Amino acid sequence: MTSLSNLPIRDDLRGKTPYGAPQKTVPVALNVNENTHPIPDDVAADIVAAVANAVHGVNRYPDREFVELRESLARYLGHDLTPAQIWAANGSNEVLQHVLQAFGGPGRTALGFAPTYSMYSLLAAGTGTQWLAGPRDDDFELSAETAVREIQRVDPDIVILCAPNNPTGTPLSIETIAAVYEASRGIVVVDEAYAEFMPTGSPSALSLLPGRERLLVSRTMSKAFAFAGARVGYLAADAAVTDALRLVRLPYHLSALTQAAAVAALAHSDEMLAMVGEISAQRDRLVTELAALGYLPHRSGSNFVLFGGVRDPHATFQSLLAQGVLIRDIGIPGHLRVTAGTEAETTAFLTALASLGHADEGTVPTTLNSQA
Ligand SMILES: *Cc1c(COP(=O)(O)O)cnc(C)c1O
Repeated sequence: MTSLSNLPIRDDLRGKTPYGAPQKTVPVALNVNENTHPIPDDVAADIVAAVANAVHGVNRYPDREFVELRESLARYLGHDLTPAQIWAANGSNEVLQHVLQAFGGPGRTALGFAPTYSMYSLLAAGTGTQWLAGPRDDDFELSAETAVREIQRVDPDIVILCAPNNPTGTPLSIETIAAVYEASRGIVVVDEAYAEFMPTGSPSALSLLPGRERLLVSRTMSKAFAFAGARVGYLAADAAVTDALRLVRLPYHLSALTQAAAVAALAHSDEMLAMVGEISAQRDRLVTELAALGYLPHRSGSNFVLFGGVRDPHATFQSLLAQGVLIRDIGIPGHLRVTAGTEAETTAFLTALASLGHADEGTVPTTLNSQA
C-alpha cells in the first residue's frame, strides 16, 4: 500500500485530517451528542413495517423528489412551511454540503464563529470554499455587534451560524440572526441541530423565513429525534433555494429505505421527542453538579455541556474512559464536553468525575500520566 501523500490528491486536500470523533464500544458513550434513549418499541415496529414494505420496491429507483418525506417534514416544522420549501439529505452534513456546493466553491468564502462545529471547515475544504473563522464574545456568546462587524470586515459569500452552537452549547438570539442577515449579501445558514433542546417557546430562525430568501434553516433527525443511525437531515428555505440544491445533489440521493423510515418516524414525532424534556433536565443537572465539583460549565441550550476548569483535559478524558465513560476532548484548552445521557448514564459520568476529586485539587492519578 502506498501512502496518502504519494497519491495525486488535490493540492488543497494535502495535509488535511478527516472528521474523527472516536467510535469506541464503552458502557457509557457521551461523546457525540446522540440521543442515548432507544426509540420506543411501538415506533420501532412501525418503522420496521414501513421499511419492509419499501424493500419490495427497491428494484426501482426511489422517489427522487422524496415528496412524502418533504410533506412530513413541513408538517413537523409548522410555521406555514410548504413541502416546496423543504430539502433533505443523508444527515444535515450532506444538506450543508449541498449548500456549499451550490453557493460556495472556488473563489468563494464561508464564515463561521469559532469555536464552532468542526464539520463546517471540512465541508468547506471538500467543496473548495475558503473557510473564515470569526471571533466570539466572552463565554462563547455571539452578539449582533460582534457578528456584524466581522461580516462587514470579510464580506463572506456564506455565513454559517450554529444555534445553539456546538461545541459550546451557546444559544444564539433571534436578534443576532436577523442582524447577520441584514448585514450580509450572501447566504445565511442557521444550523439548528439542537433546536428541540431549547426551552419551550424559544423562537426558531424558522420564524424569520418569510421575506428572507437568502436565509436557510437546517435541522437534523440525529439528535432530539434519536435517529442518528438512519442519517436524515433537512432544511427549510425559500423554494428557489431547493431548486439550487437540486443542481448539485446526486440523483436519488435519499434511498427508498431512508425515506420510508423517516416518514414512519415522523408520524410518531411526539413519541420520538418524548425524551427531550428528560434529556434537558439531565443537561441542567450536569450544569449544577459540574459547578458543585468546581468546574466551570457554560450556558447550554443543547443536549450537551462544555465545561472549563479542567487542569489536564487529556488526563481527565483518559481516566473517565478507564471507568467506561467516553466524553469529548474538543481541543479547547482547559475544557471537555459531555452529552446529557439517560439519568443512569449521567450519574455514571458524574460519579466517575467526582472520583477524580474536586476540580481545584486536580487529582490526576499518577498511573495515568504514564499511560498518556
Ligand atoms: C450533530 C450535528 C449535526 C448533525 O449532523 P447529521 O449529519 O444530521 O447527523 C449538524 N450540525 C451540528 C452543529 C451538529 O452538532
